[in-house]
Amino acid sequence: MRKPFVAGNWKMNTDSLTSISLARTVAEGVADIAGEKIDVALLPPFVYMCYVIGALSTSHIAVGGQDVYFEPKGAFTGEISAAMLKDAGCTYVLCGHSERRHIIKETDELINKKVSAAILGGLLPILCVGELLEERKANKTDEVIKRQIERGLAGLSEEKVLAVTIAYEPVWAIGTGLNATPAQAQEVHGMIRGLVAGLYNGGVADEMRILYGGSAKADNAASLMGQSDVDGLLVGGASLKAEEFISIIKASV
Ligand code: PEP
Repeated sequence: MRKPFVAGNWKMNTDSLTSISLARTVAEGVADIAGEKIDVALLPPFVYMCYVIGALSTSHIAVGGQDVYFEPKGAFTGEISAAMLKDAGCTYVLCGHSERRHIIKETDELINKKVSAAILGGLLPILCVGELLEERKANKTDEVIKRQIERGLAGLSEEKVLAVTIAYEPVWAIGTGLNATPAQAQEVHGMIRGLVAGLYNGGVADEMRILYGGSAKADNAASLMGQSDVDGLLVGGASLKAEEFISIIKASV
């Protein structure tokens, strides 16, 4: 019912040539399944976005931004609007990635404005949530995720929230080589779906895709994807290696 979705977050990596060749290799590797059996997106750095969109023009792979600003235009030096991402050819945008929450110090309120602006600008936001290791150890995972989701989705109508994908990314698993076990991921994903059902209704909860992120690799993708509430993967480091990322996508169908 929910089509699987795998997105590759390149973060602040690649250069012009490697961004083009990586995009082309991934597109060739998954040409028989992308779009039809699985949604695939690449999230390159802003400066390489147009190269990547060009390289993917004959594929069924979508492109997304790693961040967006909430204002539509104006004197916001260094920022990029939803309209600009849309105009460049983007479909998706990450909002509230843990590196932006914890390094750049983005708040739930700012992230909520970004999610709303993304939808208004015609993009599909991927709202990232996740607990720190100390929060998990203190049994605060549910409380943290609940707060991030309630605040991240605040003010969104039922119609608008259907544009949102949620990515559960435990911070302790991002870029560390430690991944949540499939059972740990399922526990939180199930809780998130229940939360969305309570905030909206069962229909919205059934439709909403919830991705897992945190050291996803070719050898753990299938077991994570085997969980009933894991609808896809948000992949960081492993999305920079074409063959590894292709294997992850194939294992997620
Ligand atoms: C991410 O950046 O969203 C991520 C999940 O990174 P990694 O796969 O490298 O842990």
